[in-house]
Amino acid sequence: MTDPTPAPARPNNFIRTLIDADRAAGKHGGQVVTRFPPEPNGYLHLGHAKSICLNFGLARDYGGRCHLRFDDTNPLAEDTEYVDAIEADVRWLGFDWGTHLHYASDYFDRLYGFAVKMIADGHAYVSDATPEQIRAGRGTLTDPGTHDPSRDRTPAENLDLFTRMRAGEFPDGSRVLRAKIDMAAPNLNLRDPILYRIRHTHHHRTGDAWCIYPNYDFAHGQSDAIEGITHSICTLEFEDHRPLYDWLLGACGLDHRPQQIEFARLNLDYTVLSKRLLIELVRDKHVLGWDDPRMPTVAGLRRRGFTPESIREFADRIGVARADSIVELGMLESCLRDDLGPKAPRVVAVHDPLEVTLTNLAEGDVRTFDVPLYEDAARGTRTVSLSRTIYVEREDFTEDPPKDWKRLAPGREVRLRQAYILKCNEVVKDAAGRVIGLVCTVDLDALGGKPVDKRKIGNAIHWVSGSHAVPAEIRLYDRLFSDPDPAGHKDADFKSFLNAESLVVLKGALVEPYLADAKPGDRVQFERKGYYVVDSVDSKPGALVFNRIVSLKDTWAKLVAK
Ligand code: ATP
Ligand code: MG
Repeated sequence: MTDPTPAPARPNNFIRTLIDADRAAGKHGGQVVTRFPPEPNGYLHLGHAKSICLNFGLARDYGGRCHLRFDDTNPLAEDTEYVDAIEADVRWLGFDWGTHLHYASDYFDRLYGFAVKMIADGHAYVSDATPEQIRAGRGTLTDPGTHDPSRDRTPAENLDLFTRMRAGEFPDGSRVLRAKIDMAAPNLNLRDPILYRIRHTHHHRTGDAWCIYPNYDFAHGQSDAIEGITHSICTLEFEDHRPLYDWLLGACGLDHRPQQIEFARLNLDYTVLSKRLLIELVRDKHVLGWDDPRMPTVAGLRRRGFTPESIREFADRIGVARADSIVELGMLESCLRDDLGPKAPRVVAVHDPLEVTLTNLAEGDVRTFDVPLYEDAARGTRTVSLSRTIYVEREDFTEDPPKDWKRLAPGREVRLRQAYILKCNEVVKDAAGRVIGLVCTVDLDALGGKPVDKRKIGNAIHWVSGSHAVPAEIRLYDRLFSDPDPAGHKDADFKSFLNAESLVVLKGALVEPYLADAKPGDRVQFERKGYYVVDSVDSKPGALVFNRIVSLKDTWAKLVAK
């Protein structure tokens, strides 16, 4: 036995406890080999990210390895576009499979060999039953199943038929290969499950070499064994398949016995985590694509601006358990805030600008201030300029202030963040009575050598200088669904809960000139607003586009509580 690496300094969970026990007992020589086995029939979502962090994380912490294996046994739904996207997503999350990139289709020859051995040993037979007959013959939880009329064929007959199935002699759906186990087994998965189907379909990797394809149960455990996987971690719905998983390893004569371990899948509120449903959103154009920043896909989260660090931290915080639960989307958002808080430069964007003329600052008089760029002020500063025309947020002004109003109003004073105190002397309106500007003065003496604190003045509002600001588009994203469990309604389609306000586009925003050269993927905090990223698809030099990742506080929680 190799010397186990020291116990990892991470929160314990039941899977680690199992692995620790296996290692203590010297099972698999103390090795830990895991795998992440996606079917390439869609893009990865946050649920997959949880599984990736778990499998690759265990391999890392125990000094083992984790394979990326495409479970490509159903050529109807699979595509190389998905293979490429999945690889990119796993890499972006920060994980590396080294030389262990595998495909179930790499094992088609060996799987066929296992099936032939099972037939020869009397553990499998070719059935002529239709899918309906097979379903009807399976019985129920209370009633045993009935024997397939083909069940007593001799190994020689079965071998002949199976060879001809492979040779393409029979049409789709006319025959299947079934395991011969026990039609009265209390576990329905053991009632002669199907192992191979006929499918005259082109496969994205094996082309037209095969017209019979193994199903998930037959391919999965055998692929695990072939690769020397020690711990095959999957979601709870496979718990009832575990006896079949173990039975098949025995029937195929495999010595290596991986241990299947099940954990509860990730469920998130206000979203759906199912490839089937996500495909529907993309296909019917309810979103702009798999990487729409509102999608819970890894590609969507990346474009939205989430960091790999925040997603890994999220996976750590939610942990793994055997009981189903629903996690709040807010938890992911708080991981992002914690990650970007110290990292992201803090700059200013005025989302909905209102023009302010500073009458006591002459045209051409520009005042500059060196202000901190990061949460840790010692990390550096940027220079901010103030000129006669500035812009503030329209929502920071009201003509009719409520009692506790601390921002701008006629006759009131407020502090311009990092600069002077501003006083509103006059309101300018258009013919329709809409406020189109403010006429103000700044208290030029009040600044002194450092930020004024001699007078206690309401809040500080953010602003940009009219002659220095850079135009930008800002996209505000919200929950894609307005219902906490959109897919959980029996009588309503999940798409009827799509949130009509999940995207609000602000075309006329202004950002400070520090951002003029911002690159796609750059992340910033807009002071008082939230965390944003330069959009990786639509942002161009001179035509900046920012996506809001999250607001500074969990405003959604407040809305719901109201
Ligand atoms: P979906 O239900 O979205 O189609 P799937 O399970 O069919 O997902 P696979 O490509 O087969 O998708 O999944 C690859 C791996 O990701 C599996 O090991 C599966 O258990 C895991 N996984 C999928 N969804 C979740 C989830 N919500 N939480 C945790 N793990 C998940
Ligand atoms: Mg699946």
